[in-house]
Amino acid sequence: MQLLDGRYLSKIIKGEIAEEVNILRQNGRKIPNLAAVLIGDNPASSAYVKSKIKSCEEVGFESTMIKRDTSISEAELLEIVDKLNKDDDIDGFIVQLPLPPHIDELKITMAINPDKDVDGFHPLNFGKLAQGLPCFIPATPLGILLMLERYNIPTAGKKCVVVGRSNIVGTPMSILMSRKGKVGDCTVTLTHSRTNNIEKECLEADILIAAIGKPHFIKENMVKDGAVVIDVGINRIEDALSPKGSKIVGDVDFDNVAPKCSYITPVPGGVGLMTVTCLMLNTLKAAKEK
Ligand code: NDP
Repeated sequence: MQLLDGRYLSKIIKGEIAEEVNILRQNGRKIPNLAAVLIGDNPASSAYVKSKIKSCEEVGFESTMIKRDTSISEAELLEIVDKLNKDDDIDGFIVQLPLPPHIDELKITMAINPDKDVDGFHPLNFGKLAQGLPCFIPATPLGILLMLERYNIPTAGKKCVVVGRSNIVGTPMSILMSRKGKVGDCTVTLTHSRTNNIEKECLEADILIAAIGKPHFIKENMVKDGAVVIDVGINRIEDALSPKGSKIVGDVDFDNVAPKCSYITPVPGGVGLMTVTCLMLNTLKAAKEK
């Protein structure tokens, strides 16, 4: 079994991005600037935005943080989005989800200029992704593609099972793995909470991608010997041994599943770090394409 090390790979890719930023600087070109809009003080959202801003610093990007209280109205948030759309200094921006219940997330996503939609959540980018056209690929699926590519894991003709069908992970991942390409050409099964006999579906996977949000959902009896297992899940569970009283685990029962795998991603240290890194890649792309 070999670990797909998101920490190691992220460091390499961030180094490559930093080199490109240096070249831009040397040529007197504009330095990429990523803006992040954070509404409220949800600890997970705050931590994600903080790590995105920190990554900007690491690769040499500029970053712009816009923080507002949960009392912000939908109209006020739309105004912020409109300003960011029009601001030439901002190459790409994200509005951290989830938003407070009185704000329509789809309305906000739809208001983002697709050319600055570095999260790749706008339906125009999603549609382009589905048709294999150039677009912003959402950062988590892009991170998984890069892991498979950089570790030279063959995918053509393989059976890929994706568990979870969200718009930001499972569904785009299933489309990408079935597309023609360097990483792709798989026969894909997309499973979800209404799938009958999910154990049997998972057992057939050469490449199993879990994006469910349920700690340790994927057990050893669901994984074929030699499978490649990608764990997207980020779940906080109680842990009496940890000083915090809790710890982060994935959707895969790592300790029991890992011995059966050819490759597996750890949590933490796997897909999560690649996600942030790929947001940087999308921001660089936005800046270069402007
Ligand atoms: P969602 O809650 O949007 O989607 C979860 C999916 O899992 C749904 O499609 C749901 O099915 C399916 N599901 C739930 N229960 C079961 C079950 N018992 N059997 C089969 N399928 C089930 O989650 P996200 O895609 O946003 O996130 C998934 C996980 O990945 C979370 O832990 C999240 O924190 C993590 N995540 C990690 C990222 C990273 O960078 N590593 C980035 C984004 C997310 P149905 O559609 O039928 O309800």
